[in-house]
Amino acid sequence: MVERIDGHTILIGLMAYPIRHSMSPTMHNNAFAKLGLNYTYLAFDITNKELPNAIEAIRTLGMRGSNISMPNKQKVIPLLDKLDPAAEMVGAVNTIVNDNGVLTGYTTDGTGFMQSLADEKLDIRGEKMTLAGAGGAGTAIAIQAALDGVKEISIFNAKDALWQQAKKNVAIINSKTQCKATLYSLEERDKFRSEIADSTIYCDATGVGMKPLQEMSLVNDPSFFRKDMIVFDTVYAPRETKLMRVAKKAGVDHIFNGLGMMLEQGAQAFKLWTGEDMPISYIRQLLFADKK
Ligand code: NAD
Repeated sequence: MVERIDGHTILIGLMAYPIRHSMSPTMHNNAFAKLGLNYTYLAFDITNKELPNAIEAIRTLGMRGSNISMPNKQKVIPLLDKLDPAAEMVGAVNTIVNDNGVLTGYTTDGTGFMQSLADEKLDIRGEKMTLAGAGGAGTAIAIQAALDGVKEISIFNAKDALWQQAKKNVAIINSKTQCKATLYSLEERDKFRSEIADSTIYCDATGVGMKPLQEMSLVNDPSFFRKDMIVFDTVYAPRETKLMRVAKKAGVDHIFNGLGMMLEQGAQAFKLWTGEDMPISYIRQLLFADKK
């Protein structure tokens, strides 16, 4: 007999395509079960075409909300009633909360990043960050770090399709927060080295280090890093990227993959829907015990 689902069960969705590989349903459903919360979380194959009807279904079915992933993170914005200020600045939504038919969009990737550092008792407020990447993850990280009080962010990006987004991120941070942001091309290697040397944290949000680029790193020389800094890679598969191995060689004290950020972005959404704290260490143990 299925004990958890009954006539009162509240539905939360995940709307994206492709999405069947996602860990989120396992993560949230185990957290609901552990806390005895009467919710269930299901993944739906939703492209841009189905999105308007799917969002309307949140209201019609009285769902508590949904996660949103690619290709819908930007397209969903005009379909919502309200946006959290961080989601507005990032220009993307990964979490929707339904309050009696009023849909509010949030982004939890950036808060997930900041909280994953806080979980390790690390506080980068008032410090300087060098950040590679200005896509979905890089944008959310830069904006949230700036909103939370990081003093200075040097953003490096290739002169590719995301260069314009990087320019936009710098302009928004400089006009709407107290943080000073500067954009550089990743080709400026000397500047890349000196900005990292001047930073408390280096974060790579490019996906270099993940398949098919798993043998690559934007930094290959351990002398780019200091022992007393943080090196953070948003990639979590593989658990140890080439960048992390370079940082290890440099003896860096605090080296992280993106697993904590991934768990925390889920936990932030969980809190928005249920008001409860996700039992993170239980979920980490359950899903990734052998893989920290
Ligand atoms: P995206 O496609 O939106 O952005 C990719 C960024 O990387 C861009 O800035 C692009 O210019 C840069 N880039 C791509 N290839 C590059 C290369 N060869 N050299 C230099 N720069 C390059 O991707 P995204 O959604 O921002 O994801 C980026 C990474 O972050 C992925 O590995 C993804 O798995 C990871 N991620 C992790 C979490 C988490 O919770 N840990 C959340 C979101 C994304």
